[in-house]
Amino acid sequence: MENGYNHFESKAIRTQSKRTANREHSVPLYLTSSFVFEDAEQARALFNDEVGGNIYTRFSNPNTSEFIEKMCLLEGTEDGFATASGMAAVFASMGALLESGDHIVSGRAIFGSTHQLFTQIFPKWGIETSYVDADQPDTWEEAITKNTKVIYVETPSNPGLELIDLEWLGTIAEKHGLILIVDNCFATPYVQQPAKYGAHLIVHSATKYIDGQGRTIGGIILGNKELIEKIRFFCRHTGPSLSPFNAWILSKSLETLALRVEKHCDNDLRIAECLDYHPELESVKYPFLPSHPQFELARKQMSHGGGILTFVVKGGLERVTRFLDSLKWLSLSANLGDTRTIVTHPTTTTHSKLTEEERLAVGIQPGMVRVSVGLENVNDILEDIEEALRATKMVEA
Ligand SMILES: *Cc1c(COP(=O)(O)O)cnc(C)c1O
Repeated sequence: MENGYNHFESKAIRTQSKRTANREHSVPLYLTSSFVFEDAEQARALFNDEVGGNIYTRFSNPNTSEFIEKMCLLEGTEDGFATASGMAAVFASMGALLESGDHIVSGRAIFGSTHQLFTQIFPKWGIETSYVDADQPDTWEEAITKNTKVIYVETPSNPGLELIDLEWLGTIAEKHGLILIVDNCFATPYVQQPAKYGAHLIVHSATKYIDGQGRTIGGIILGNKELIEKIRFFCRHTGPSLSPFNAWILSKSLETLALRVEKHCDNDLRIAECLDYHPELESVKYPFLPSHPQFELARKQMSHGGGILTFVVKGGLERVTRFLDSLKWLSLSANLGDTRTIVTHPTTTTHSKLTEEERLAVGIQPGMVRVSVGLENVNDILEDIEEALRATKMVEA
């Protein structure tokens, strides 16, 4: 407790880059592309890594450094690199470490663009990926070959909300000497800290809960010094760095992460409980509902159920379309983790690039709706959903 505080909220609020001579309370924005050397000797020493310091904002900047330092404290990692988007983080985490001939074992249920990276982009450079199903633990080890370098997972998955036992996966990675990468975007470090279970790298789309207000795009990669050093080299010379302005927003946003995520989770649990067994729904899925097939695991590795729930309306594609059009004010949008509740139809939007068969394999039925529950009054949110279900009723009373 060298700072005098040791808890999540205090770290998220009090971690701050050094004050300037103006003694500002809130950190200023460093909109500068380069930094001035004191003399020729300092310039030489900085470029030869003999001393630490800022040279050029593509490499580092006080705003990005503050954001990284905070995220390291919250996730329990040594080091990190902040990127311009979540996808830049996903790409750089593996682009920096893999070579032609290497192999990735990944959970099947992953973010749409990560799927495109694994199936359309990495194969061009001779990097192949095998998918395994979250609910079939035996198949993970079977998929590992002598060329496998990385295990890649999202838990909870998007949008199926399937969980993977991180502790178990950490032991598999250890046993086979593999790098375990976890996309922790859905959970946030407030709900789950994969490094505790042996994840070597954690990637985030900071666009989601970390910003939390639907304002900005950003990402981050976190891990031990050795891996991050390789990633820093890769990013320094390929240029996916986060802008200082976005880093400033994201660092400010972290000050309220605990409060916001707590409320997202409260609202979400309440909605999940109210909709569970609704006569117009085939099913409701939320990690902290006892009806979730992995409820026990959720309670073990997550402190809260998260801010996302899914449900499947009765009547398939035709009904779900009418349901979506009957919502009065909830947003139809493809984002998540916003203050505003967002309703998404994965089949026709975020996951439309998958085949019907691929969608069903990850639990995306035509009638499935994903809700990113916002911070509005929970009764208002529920009412809009229930009213739209009533207006498009299938079941006779
Ligand atoms: C949104 C998202 C990403 C990509 O992040 P961007 O900031 O949009 O590039 C990656 N993984 C998950 C789980 C996401 O939800």
